[in-house]
This record gives sequence, C-alpha cells and structure tokens, in this order.
Amino acid sequence: MTILKDARGRQFPYLRLSVTDLCNFRCNYCLPDGCKDHNHKKALTVSEIRHLLAAFAALGTRKVRITGGEPCLRKDLPAIIETAATTPGIENVALTTNGYRLQQQLPAWHQAGLNALNISIDSLDPQVFHTITGHNRLNAILRGVDDALALGMKVKVNAVLMRDFNDKALSTFLGWIKDKPVSTRFIELMETGHSKSFFEKHHYSGDHIREELLQRGWSQTPRKKEDGPAQEFTHQDYPGRIGLIQPYSSDFCDDCNRLRVTSIGQLQMCLFADGGFDLRSLLQSEDQHDMLLARIRSLLVHKNDNHFLQQGITGGTQNLAQVGG
Ligand code: SAM
Ligand code: SF4
Repeated sequence: MTILKDARGRQFPYLRLSVTDLCNFRCNYCLPDGCKDHNHKKALTVSEIRHLLAAFAALGTRKVRITGGEPCLRKDLPAIIETAATTPGIENVALTTNGYRLQQQLPAWHQAGLNALNISIDSLDPQVFHTITGHNRLNAILRGVDDALALGMKVKVNAVLMRDFNDKALSTFLGWIKDKPVSTRFIELMETGHSKSFFEKHHYSGDHIREELLQRGWSQTPRKKEDGPAQEFTHQDYPGRIGLIQPYSSDFCDDCNRLRVTSIGQLQMCLFADGGFDLRSLLQSEDQHDMLLARIRSLLVHKNDNHFLQQGITGGTQNLAQVGG
C-alpha cells in the first residue's frame, strides 16, 4: 500500500468527511442568519460513502471524522458510522456535533461503532451559549457529555475563542473538567468569506490562554507529528487536557495530516481551498475502486503548503458548515 503523501512529504492518515452542509444552529461566527442554502438532499448516500471510505482506507486513512453542517440531522447517521467503523483499515471513527439531542442519539452512535466525540460548547453559561448558538440546550448537552463519558467514549469539547463572548471563560471550563477526562480545545476564530467584520471584532489570540494556563501550572506537552495542529497542555490535578488550536501561527500547516471530502463528494485539500474536486462520479460501484484510487492520488498535487488566512484569503469558504469544519 502506498500511503497518501504530498510533495512536502506530509502523510494523510486522517479524513474529515462532511455528511451534510445543513445545520439547525445559528452560531454567530458560522451561520448567524441560520442555514439558508444547503445541499442536504444531495448529500452522499451510505453506499457512496462505503466506496469512498474503502478507497481512502486503501490509501492509508486510519481515522475518519464525520462532520458537517450538523451530522445528527442525517437520519441514517448510525448507518454512516457503522459503514466507517466496519471499513477494513479504519481504526477510529469520530464525530463532531453541536450536541443537539445528544442524549437521545448517543446510544445508537455508540452501538454503531463510534469511538470518539467532539462536541462544540463555546460557553458554559447557558445565556451566553444561547446568544452564541441561538439554542437553549446547554444543560441537556452537558448531560450528554456525561453519558458519553459513562460509555467510555473519548470526548473532546471544542470552544471557539471570541472576544466579548468567552475570552474570560478559561477558569469556568477548568472548573467543569476538574473531575472529567474531557479534552477541551480552544480554537481561535477563523475568518471566512461571510464573517470578515465579525472576525475583526471578535478574534482573540490563543496566546492569552497559553499564558493563563502556564501561570496556573499547566505544562505544554511536546508535540508529536501525528497529533495534528493542536498544542496540548496537561496538569497533574486534572484527568483531561487542554488543547489550543491557533490557525494563524506560522507553522500551523507544517504537520497537516488531513484531507476533506464535502457532503456532495468533493475532495478538498484544505478548509480554505478555492473549491473541491469531484469524486462522486467514481463512487457509484465497486468496479470504480482502482480509478478512484488513481484520481485521489493524482489530485494531491493540488495540496498547498499553507492556507493563506494570515493574508485574509479565505478561499471559497463562506462558512465552515459549507465544507465541514
Ligand atoms: N455542527 C458541528 C459542530 O458545530 O460541532 C460540526 C460542524 S462545525 C463547522 C465544526 C467546528 O468548526 C465546530 O467546533 C465549530 O465551532 C467550528 N467552527 C465553525 N466556524 C468556525 C470559525 N469561523 N472559526 C473557528 N472555528 C469554527
Ligand atoms: Fe452549525 Fe456547527 Fe456552524 Fe454552529 S458551528 S452553525 S453548529 S455548523
């Protein structure tokens, strides 16, 4: 097997698969006016996903993260998870979700073979959570986190750092994870095509979080290549970790280990690429497997060394729900 590698020698054992671009939340940094345009009905079918994952697994993919939009809006999400979990070669199946109806849906996801869950929780204050997402579901989502931990799942929480909303929230998050093996990751707000003015007003550097963590006795762990772009911090009194994702740092793309496929089957080289490359026409039958492998390999020449976010260039990405964040 030849593992997918680009011209810089970066390998790609990790695939982020969007299963819909539809979302029911209206996060102020992502879909502040709700989801207007979407291709929910045109999303890849389970059979197309099966062919896609068989090809990526043959090219060295070991981990699949299912994302969106909001993946839980797919009624067949358990079947998608099961397809990923039963693809030979795929060792980890993770899901990124806003946690809507987490408690009700978790048992089916777990039974289908989900190993890891990333839940987006930008604030632990119910009112601020409501202001950010447009939904009043914080407490139900937190109960879902406890249920996932009780099932033995690996749980990460994603919080997008925003001035005026959660820039002072570190101590509340630390209090919440004191007894929970949850890895909380603070992600710096990224600019997208539709969010320039919001970004300029609310972007908040993760450096403040790093300083505060170090002052509170947390230590930064040495970064391993396979960790991807998060910087990780640990503390002897806490079972979980804190992650910091700083897409604007100059070496952010150096260890990029992921490729993306959109909900309509386009291979995207980067979250901020200008667009994607069609794979769907080669997902219609098993007989196309070899052609699909060749196409994916040949497309890797389009993987750029870096994103161009520092220069304010956001590619074709109007919001992250469109591509699969
Ligand atoms: N709907 C799911 C959710 O919110 O978890 C999955 C899709 S969402 C696009 C994936 C992740 O991207 C979430 O953690 C979200 O907070 C993050 N995200 C969305 N827009 C972002 C932005 N402009 N900057 C940084 N992170 C963003
Ligand atoms: Fe939906 Fe996720 Fe975007 Fe929030 S961040 S609007 S939950 S896709």
